Amino acid sequence: MSVLVFVETKDGQLSKAAFEAVSYGNKIGDTTVVTFGDADNSVLATLGNYGAKKVLVNRSVEDKNDQQLTRLIVAAANEVGADVVVVAQDQLGKAVAPRVAARLGAGHVSGAIALPDTSNGFVVKTNVYSGKAYANVGVNTAKKVISLIPNAVPAEATGGSAEVADFNADLGAAGIKVKEMKSQGDGVPLPEAELVVSAGRGLKGPENWGMVEDLASTLGAATACSRPVADIGWRPHHEHVGQTGIAIRPNLYIAAGISGAIQHLAGVNNSKTIVVINTDSEAPFFKAADYGVVGDAFEVLPALNEAIKKF
Ligand code: FAD
Repeated sequence: MSVLVFVETKDGQLSKAAFEAVSYGNKIGDTTVVTFGDADNSVLATLGNYGAKKVLVNRSVEDKNDQQLTRLIVAAANEVGADVVVVAQDQLGKAVAPRVAARLGAGHVSGAIALPDTSNGFVVKTNVYSGKAYANVGVNTAKKVISLIPNAVPAEATGGSAEVADFNADLGAAGIKVKEMKSQGDGVPLPEAELVVSAGRGLKGPENWGMVEDLASTLGAATACSRPVADIGWRPHHEHVGQTGIAIRPNLYIAAGISGAIQHLAGVNNSKTIVVINTDSEAPFFKAADYGVVGDAFEVLPALNEAIKKF
């Protein structure tokens, strides 16, 4: 099978989600990558370490424009005769994958969490209902587009370096243009984070978030919060996880002063290990926890931070 994987670069660097998507594509078939932006060819060539044979790079897409990127991916898919297109299911991937599928006349599977089973057709396991259930989705079209959930499959280094070539396509005009973009802060981006320290209304006010940030900084973790905390403005909205916020799958999720309402769990219950800190031993979050501390976050978070610093 011929596989095309779309990846994006940020500040000239590739993300873990990109390596995962390429590794995933490589297990399906001969993998070519299409990308855009100003990353050095030497950086893009490292995708060969995850199985990419070739990287096609376009240097003229404007501002991550969804429409131009759709045309770029479709042109690259036609160029390499792709049977399968793989896209990471992040913010940009969500915008482009359905459009690419429509233009290619391809069946689109979103929320993929495993390799396709080709023993009887082409069946992909997906996450549905905010991670509360799985679905096995059969794709009957000749061409297929798969949106892969970040952190669902490992990025496996195989050794090697990919050939990098410029790829020009008719991108058309950008129908929309980003007028202004403001950074929402530094630190580890939440959707890709392997470690997350999160807190809720139990922290009483925004002035107490220093202990969350300190622990996150010690661990190299991203910070997150429950929805009410974002709604009342204690924390920015991009930190809100749950059914109506971001769904994450870190290796470690530490939740302090969060009750564990079902809408919160919907966004975090795919975390590999969950640690809950709550004063109320009856808090529902303890049922989903791998480790629980019945205690005051104001004491436990700083103590945990000091203990971890000693390692
Ligand atoms: P609370 O429910 O007030 O819980 C605070 C917890 O802190 C309690 O368990 C308490 O025992 C504990 N606590 C208090 N003091 C301390 C202390 N000193 N140390 C340790 N623990 C302490 N919520 C989300 O988070 N994400 C969503 O995406 C989301 N989507 C929603 C969608 C809908 C349609 C609806 C109706 C609700 C949604 N909610 C969502 C809200 C959700 O139902 C809960 O109300 C919310 O998650 C509760 O936030 P919390 O746990 O921070 O606050």
